[in-house]
Amino acid sequence: MMNNDIASKNKTERIIGNVLGEKLSPTIIIFSGIHGNENAGVSAGKNVIKKIENEHIKFQGNLFIIQGNINALKKGIRYEDVDLNRIWNKENIDKIKLSSNSFNADENEQLEIYLQIKDIFKTQKGPFYFLDLHTTSSPTVPFITISDSLNNRDFSSKFPVPIVLGIEEYLDGPLLTYLNEFGHVSLGFEAGEHFDEQSVMNCEAFIWLALVYSKCVKKSELNNLVYYKKELLKSKCTNKYKFFEIDLQYIIKKDEDFKMKSGFNNFEKIKNNQKLAKSNGKDVRAAMNGRIFMPLYQELGNDGFFIITRISYFWLKTSLIVRKLNTHHFLRLLPGIEKDPYNSYTLNVNPKTAKFLTKEIFHLFGYRKQVLKDDRFHFIKRDRKITEFH
Ligand SMILES: [Zn+2]
Repeated sequence: MMNNDIASKNKTERIIGNVLGEKLSPTIIIFSGIHGNENAGVSAGKNVIKKIENEHIKFQGNLFIIQGNINALKKGIRYEDVDLNRIWNKENIDKIKLSSNSFNADENEQLEIYLQIKDIFKTQKGPFYFLDLHTTSSPTVPFITISDSLNNRDFSSKFPVPIVLGIEEYLDGPLLTYLNEFGHVSLGFEAGEHFDEQSVMNCEAFIWLALVYSKCVKKSELNNLVYYKKELLKSKCTNKYKFFEIDLQYIIKKDEDFKMKSGFNNFEKIKNNQKLAKSNGKDVRAAMNGRIFMPLYQELGNDGFFIITRISYFWLKTSLIVRKLNTHHFLRLLPGIEKDPYNSYTLNVNPKTAKFLTKEIFHLFGYRKQVLKDDRFHFIKRDRKITEFH
């Protein structure tokens, strides 16, 4: 029996798949190919739609699969002028919304995607789940990245893959961080190496699990759910620990000749002082014990590598409790900390206090991303109430 409306009339170059199911909610929005050299998510999105169609899979709620940087995808390049996943900040969005100036190719893509999201919010019902599919330049087990809000933690922990928190503290303007500010669940998924065929399968597995966990598709509708979950995702993730946090970022300077030492796998354990890369002919060594994360094996990009460590179960539990009890108000009672007059989710912190308290305290209470502005550190809360997208 076919109940879904596979909305082929809604298929555009931007929307590569759209299913309008029996119920009006939830609404799942999947981004693919935000980086034009990462085609795996696009192929996976198309395969999922085909399977829903061919096997008459019953669907509750709505699904939109959106193609990201269409121009760059066609050319097989990461981006044309600017990285489409580094320009989702208020300043840039105001610019593309308000100005009639011509933008660069990637900002044109951004404007179209922005308007598409706006349209989905206007016409569909929540809860909304945003998923963004990527691949990496180094071999990797599949993993999830999230901003550390409790709703993101809750949804991401259902998947049998490692989860890395707080990457937004190190990156400017990723799409999902922007969406997260309106309170919606938003997960990034890194499926594997760019050209590994397995990356397409991993993306498909991730999409199917997301559709089951968000209750769009009943388990019983899928004959190979166990395969997706256990064989494709879980079997490769030998890490005993689930949640990781970024401790160190190596930024490549302008005109620096950086070369990562070959052979690192993502999540591989490294020791303090171990040789990791060459910079202008000199060794770059690890400044701490941990695991190597996202080592750069492609031409484009400013992040040489990150070092991550596991987050203890105790820390996760404690931060859950302090946030549920809303104890973050106590932070504002400390000297040198005040609420930002313009944004209730932001704390302005005197640099002396910031040094004394350390980042971890703010992380515990759910604050991330310290930006230095007017001699104050701005810490931004990740847990949000749902507000209207703008
Ligand atoms: Zn990417």
